Amino acid sequence: MTEAESSFEIDWDDDEQSRYRQALLGWYDENHRELPWRQDVGPYGTWISEVMLQQTQVATVVDYYERWMTKFPTPAELAAASLDDVLKMWAGLGYYRRARFIHAAAVQIVEDGMPQTSKGWLSLPGVGRYTAGAIGSIALGEVVPVVDGNVKRVLSRFLAWTEDPTTSRSEKFFWGAAEILVDPERPGDFNQAVMELGATVCKPRNPACPECPLQESCSGFETGRPTDFPAPKRRKTKQRDETRHVALVIRDGSVWAVRTPPDGLLGGLWGFPEALSLEELAMGFPESEHADFTTIGQVKHVFSHIRMTYVAYLCEGLSLEPQTDASGWFDVNELTTLGMSRAMSKVAALLSSET
Ligand code: SF4
Repeated sequence: MTEAESSFEIDWDDDEQSRYRQALLGWYDENHRELPWRQDVGPYGTWISEVMLQQTQVATVVDYYERWMTKFPTPAELAAASLDDVLKMWAGLGYYRRARFIHAAAVQIVEDGMPQTSKGWLSLPGVGRYTAGAIGSIALGEVVPVVDGNVKRVLSRFLAWTEDPTTSRSEKFFWGAAEILVDPERPGDFNQAVMELGATVCKPRNPACPECPLQESCSGFETGRPTDFPAPKRRKTKQRDETRHVALVIRDGSVWAVRTPPDGLLGGLWGFPEALSLEELAMGFPESEHADFTTIGQVKHVFSHIRMTYVAYLCEGLSLEPQTDASGWFDVNELTTLGMSRAMSKVAALLSSET
């Protein structure tokens, strides 16, 4: 095997190509995990599972996926649901923009019909090349590639790609290589096999090369140092620390909750009034000079670039009235039924020891 980095061509002979494809598909047939979205669920089920899998571990997604499909079994039921209900079903998965995109895309599907090609799926809100490729190959049988983190790692090793995997040049390389490698007869199974291999065998730290169906053709294995691939990223994005102060305003067993604006971090989800300082927090309420703010605890939560500390205060004596449907009093015991981020759910949990 030789590989010309500049044009991303891979010079395989037919036998070698057929050998690695058969080896990988044979391995996948025997070893893949049985998962609910691998039961021929069609484009809708594939779409939902693939977007969820971009957020979190397979084990967690199984539960979310099954609850989602029970509640919204078709795009029509999803489109007819309120955004609140959709966010509630998504709560805990993070990246809430994706749930809003899914909802918007379902509305478009109801209006224009379900796309029949990966290109058609690409035109829907929030559907990128990866998701379109997954739906196209898995649910529609199209010979199109997919590239995610697992695929990048497997390809980096398999083809001994020495460059920083985060550059646009590497991105082009991965997509180009995946396009050449994908099996024309079973593209969906092939793509899932590469991802499965990355998740269970070609793991980041300890690739299990002796058990790997690609070992014979793997250039990374041949070097004797497969974990040298992918190459280290050039720079890491630094996480910054941030502290926010949160008010849990209570009255007769109820707590005051507010909904975040649709476009911000955690947009559209319910939470509690918060600010960068206690003074700023208090100033946000009318007649706050008559209220007591008592610290009841701290909650830490890590977002992608922020290590957040929420300092929570219990506050009584404020008579607030909802002005819009973006705020209101909610029974403390019913907070779990609101669509809340995981961070705000942790803050809400502080109330259980106080009320
Ligand atoms: Fe990964 Fe090792 Fe398999 Fe190569 S042989 S693809 S490095 S597990």
